[in-house]
Amino acid sequence: MSQFEQDSLQLTDRPVNLYRDRSTRCAACGHEQRFDPEWFVRWECQGEVCPGCGVDCTEEKATRVICEPDDPALDDSLVPKLSWWHTSTYEDWPSPDFNPAARLTDLARQRMGEPMIARWVGSQRAKALHVGTYESAIHNMLRRMRDQPEAGRRFFLYRVQLRADVTILGGCHEEPGDWLGDVPLTKVCPSELDVFRYENQHEDKGSISLALGRGAIQSVQQLALPVEDVERPAWWTDAVDRMSVASQTLPAPGTPVGPLAQLRRPGWAVSSPVAEVQNDLRMELTSHLPGTLRGAAEAAIRIDATLTPTEWCSLAAAVLQPLNDPAAVMQAARASAPRTVSTESL
Ligand SMILES: [Zn+2]
Repeated sequence: MSQFEQDSLQLTDRPVNLYRDRSTRCAACGHEQRFDPEWFVRWECQGEVCPGCGVDCTEEKATRVICEPDDPALDDSLVPKLSWWHTSTYEDWPSPDFNPAARLTDLARQRMGEPMIARWVGSQRAKALHVGTYESAIHNMLRRMRDQPEAGRRFFLYRVQLRADVTILGGCHEEPGDWLGDVPLTKVCPSELDVFRYENQHEDKGSISLALGRGAIQSVQQLALPVEDVERPAWWTDAVDRMSVASQTLPAPGTPVGPLAQLRRPGWAVSSPVAEVQNDLRMELTSHLPGTLRGAAEAAIRIDATLTPTEWCSLAAAVLQPLNDPAAVMQAARASAPRTVSTESL
């Protein structure tokens, strides 16, 4: 593995390739083939079928992405030597004092009531943590940037070092939990196990992720996104200029403004010349991405004419920088001081 980068933690970063082909196997007929990202976009729109049996994505038994047989994460002895990645809006992940209720609004608190809040906090704290490839962590961030309540929050990228002596359930399993990956830790990692390994079907499809408890983590390196000391992207100045010009332009007659305009979905209808420019920019800035990430990246760059041009560029950079310049972002994470994660149980 000499071609991989190593650091003082002696962790191995796997190379990133967002455009790589993925291996698949058809659950209906067993046909195996590798496809490029654009094939999967067409597949999800019923524009492709299994070349073996003609089944499309609407069938329960259909083509599924499978992990690569030479993935180093399949080797138990290599798992603790690899870097693992996670993204979160929490600055102190994985905190022993994780309290999701701290972010509830007063209105949400009133609606839920204290007993329900206590139950919800308990279930949130009992959930397994997930770590995976750099690509899967970034893809997960894109999905959450688009959704309330995390849209608009700053995201942190974590480079995770596992304990050297973690016990791993043999084999590679199906993704546990619901589509959000929510699963109680005790369900996937009973007391004698630290790590449950699974094949990712949603983010960086076909990559291997791990469900684990806080106690399986030795240390983390933390990085706020976007990384500010990386050179500004080439598009920044032009984007600021275009938004500044647009901000001097009056909205077209009949365009909804004020609170009504804010209710509109991003990209659906734009409500001001600035929003129109932002919409054009985000399409231009994401057009080169692989089809499997393009939509998620576009949706993560929200249209918000109330932001200054610089604020909007910073938001767009937080989305685009990890995709366009993974080497620089990984290097910045690698250079961060490790924080030891306590093994005290919750
Ligand atoms: Zn088939």
